[in-house]
Amino acid sequence: MSDLSAQTVSFASNAANVFFHILTQCNLHCRHCYINPAQHGTQRLALDTIRAWLGVMARRSPGANLIFLGGEPTLHPDLADAVKSARELGYGSITIDTNGYLFHDILSKITPVQVDYISFSLDGASPATNDPIRGQGSFEVCTQGIRRAKARGFRTSLIYTVSRLNLAELAAVPALLGELKIDRFFIQVIGLRGQSATGAEDRSGDLQVSRREWETHVLPVARQAAGLGIPVIYPKVYLSPGEPFACAGKVADNYFIFPNGRVYRCPLCEDFPLHSLCLEHDRLVEMPPINEKDLFQLNIPEGCVMNKLIQPGNLSYDADGKAEFQIACCLIKERL
Ligand code: SF4
Ligand code: SF4
Repeated sequence: MSDLSAQTVSFASNAANVFFHILTQCNLHCRHCYINPAQHGTQRLALDTIRAWLGVMARRSPGANLIFLGGEPTLHPDLADAVKSARELGYGSITIDTNGYLFHDILSKITPVQVDYISFSLDGASPATNDPIRGQGSFEVCTQGIRRAKARGFRTSLIYTVSRLNLAELAAVPALLGELKIDRFFIQVIGLRGQSATGAEDRSGDLQVSRREWETHVLPVARQAAGLGIPVIYPKVYLSPGEPFACAGKVADNYFIFPNGRVYRCPLCEDFPLHSLCLEHDRLVEMPPINEKDLFQLNIPEGCVMNKLIQPGNLSYDADGKAEFQIACCLIKERL
């Protein structure tokens, strides 16, 4: 019998992660999209620029894990060339995050040797739940994309962003994972970022699940999927009493790069001009204070400072005004 106790994936001191948004354009308009063109830019990076920035990051963090993102990265006609350049630069692993539309015949231009994972996003186990969130017809296209990728020998991940809109259907996902032969399952928690934060209908934060819902719905499904032999990764979200808090901005090596050159260390800062680094003339330069780095230094009883600033609705306090629990860094994951 396999051991299904969760392991906290501590921040690796020797493995950097580079999340490279090579464009912000997308064919879908998902309700919870975190892309914010006003803060992230609207340009599609030229291949020369992509190569130059990949080189900058490879020199700074040799062997980093690289994730190509958008927008929809397969809308970029030079994605396959970017993948090849990244391989030559020695990135430790390469993942493409896609909505499954797989534009520009990308599967025929890359190989499973060049790309470690193709990661597909679905927000329901059926069109009835997924399509109102991600777009009409997107369930069918995405699942077909997964089948085509598997048929060509690619390893696949599935990313499911949990919100009130699809919490009930999460229980049906493990069966879908098995049917699609998914190799790795990521459960994400919806955050108040991008569209979720600025879209008028979602502004109230009603889409976020409570601690109780998280524990009663999400954790059992994670265990069920792991029981099928599929590695499951999900955010820790809530720290148990006595568990140490750590801010990835201080102790880890993550870079979230956007087409306008902004480089963030914290995803919760991405809706604000708080980036601590910037790619200017193909060089990585430090931004002057005040930026996200100054926030990382603050120690508060509620755990993550940015969580308290942008989504305080998920905190609770006792009668004496004491925080009842700490919110973990959004980059801390559990693995089953
Ligand atoms: S969440 Fe992804 S697929 Fe959906 S609109 Fe945003 S970039 Fe496109
Ligand atoms: S999410 Fe919070 S704890 Fe994590 S890097 Fe950002 S500010 Fe730090």
